[in-house]
Amino acid sequence: MGSLFESLLLRLASAEGVRPKLNTGNRVAQVVDCPPSMAARILDGKALAAAVRASVKETVARLAARGVRPGLAVILAGDNPASAVYVRNKARACEETGVRSEVHRYGADVTERALLDRIAALNADPGVHGILVQLPLPGRINARRVLEAVAPAKDIDGFHFENLGALVAGQSKLVPCTPAGVMRLIEHAGVTLAGRHAVVIGRSSIVGKPLALLLLQKDATVTICHSKTMELQKLTREADVLVAAVGRPKLVTAAMVKPGACVIDVGINRLPDGTLAGDVDFDAVKNVAGWITPVPGGVGPMTIALLLENCVRAASI
Ligand code: NAD
Repeated sequence: MGSLFESLLLRLASAEGVRPKLNTGNRVAQVVDCPPSMAARILDGKALAAAVRASVKETVARLAARGVRPGLAVILAGDNPASAVYVRNKARACEETGVRSEVHRYGADVTERALLDRIAALNADPGVHGILVQLPLPGRINARRVLEAVAPAKDIDGFHFENLGALVAGQSKLVPCTPAGVMRLIEHAGVTLAGRHAVVIGRSSIVGKPLALLLLQKDATVTICHSKTMELQKLTREADVLVAAVGRPKLVTAAMVKPGACVIDVGINRLPDGTLAGDVDFDAVKNVAGWITPVPGGVGPMTIALLLENCVRAASI
């Protein structure tokens, strides 16, 4: 979340790249565009996430004046090393913004009953405003049953059916953090969505589908692509905004991108050499796109920042 001045500056900057594109009868549609030879502007998720966290910190201070301290409870079950890292990062971000956090750890042999009992206790705890169940849960556990046990008002991941249903109806209070972070990045870039074609690759319930609904709410024309989509490249080349949320390194090549498009990379893939890569071939696509998010440093930091924002929102309601 940038200041108004910052966002105006960005809009002016992007206006440099605006050029009339299509004469559609009675109105001229424009595409925020860069010449193909020009490098894309980098959408710095790290910087934007820092601004969101600063704003969360201010809200935490305002809530403190009312005697409220937002509290986040995380449930971590099993021994997935990536989950342990995510939880540690979330706890650190809480600490930095003044949100109280507690982590409830369980071994891989935890029973579903134990998790459900813990969630019931957290639902009833007035000091806990947000409950997060770190996924994946151990295989034997019915993850959906566990997610549905979280009180919708404390479901800061926005995964409960009640919150997902509210999103479909356009009346959501707690929106899944990664899609919300993607929307904030697009907004920050000053890219207009109304009337534009947004293509989302990936249809998961935590990223692709909720993101498609958020884009639709902003009046984009949305196409969702997935593993069975035919002629993927034909569709992606039509995208003014292209989001990849697949989990396949470098799936999106330069040939799949419309010149000047805003390209958002949600993917996080660990390569054999231990480095991280997104779903987009960054080095090639940056020469075609108008805007692009890096990995790491794009969507990832936004997810955590929006989680904190959801937590203070839950505490404010
Ligand atoms: P998922 O496995 O649930 O869904 C992947 C989707 O990609 C599916 O809908 C599938 O149909 C589609 N797909 C698979 N192969 C395809 C292909 N060849 N062409 C087109 N579509 C294809 O994954 P998810 O949970 O939605 O996560 C997607 C990626 O985003 C992963 O890399 C994950 O690590 C990452 N992720 C990042 C963040 C973040 O904070 N940056 C948050 C959540 C997920």
